[in-house]
This record gives sequence, structure tokens and C-alpha cells, in this order.
Amino acid sequence: MAYTILPVEYSDKSEYPNHSYLKRQRILVFQRTKGRCEICDGFAVETHHIDEDKSNHELDNLLAVCKRCHGSLHHGARPRRDGNARGMTSKTKRTFGYTATEIADMIGCSTTWLYSKIRAGDEEEIKNLIQSSKTLA
Ligand SMILES: [Zn+2]
Ligand SMILES: [Zn+2]
Repeated sequence: MAYTILPVEYSDKSEYPNHSYLKRQRILVFQRTKGRCEICDGFAVETHHIDEDKSNHELDNLLAVCKRCHGSLHHGARPRRDGNARGMTSKTKRTFGYTATEIADMIGCSTTWLYSKIRAGDEEEIKNLIQSSKTLA
């Protein structure tokens, strides 16, 4: 089923450089999460720049967030639930040497599936999948 709810439009006077590119990227991020906030699973309406660099619109750097979680990301409060996807992103890089998106591309899974595997502690399985995708290449 196609994702039909379009993200909130921002005005042209955006704080973000290269704004039309961000708009396209944002749609992809919302598709990736099926419109869900990646922190609390609520209804995502905004994207957060993980590295806080507002010109870095790479998919890996964008997190689909609801208003509330986005607020907590910027005001230092803890998000509503564990499994903070922000921590998850640096964790995948540390643990596997690749970002979640790179791994998803390599082994042909979604990042959501990947995160759920990591949360479940199945890191060995992911390492094996990465290894075998390299062997095939
Ligand atoms: Zn949220
Ligand atoms: Zn943000």
C-alpha cells in the first residue's frame, strides 16, 4: 500500500539550506517509517537532523519524529521510550562499521527490520548477513 499522507509543508522561508531537496528526502523518510515517529512510534510530522547539521539531508541523517519527540531531542529531555533511534544510528556504525542504511542496502532489508534485530540482540546474524553479502559481491 502506498504511503499517501504527505508531510507537513514548510514555508519557503525555511531555516534549511537546499530546502526542496530536503522536502524530497523527507518524503522518503516518512515512507521508510510508514509515517511513524522513529522514537515513540507515534505520528511523525517532522524530520530531525541527527548530526544537527541542517544542510546534511542524507537519509541516514534524517529521523522521522513526532512533534513531541522532536521537541525533546532539541531540549535535551529524554524521549518517551528507549530504543532511541539516534543512539541506534551511531551504534550500527560502531558495531558493524556501516550505517543502518548502508547495511539495509547490502543485505536487502529495511532499516526498521535492522533496528528490531539489534534491539533483540541478534547482532551476530546481521554480521553474518553482511559477511555473506560481501562474499556474493
Ligand atoms: Zn515521537
Ligand atoms: Zn531537529
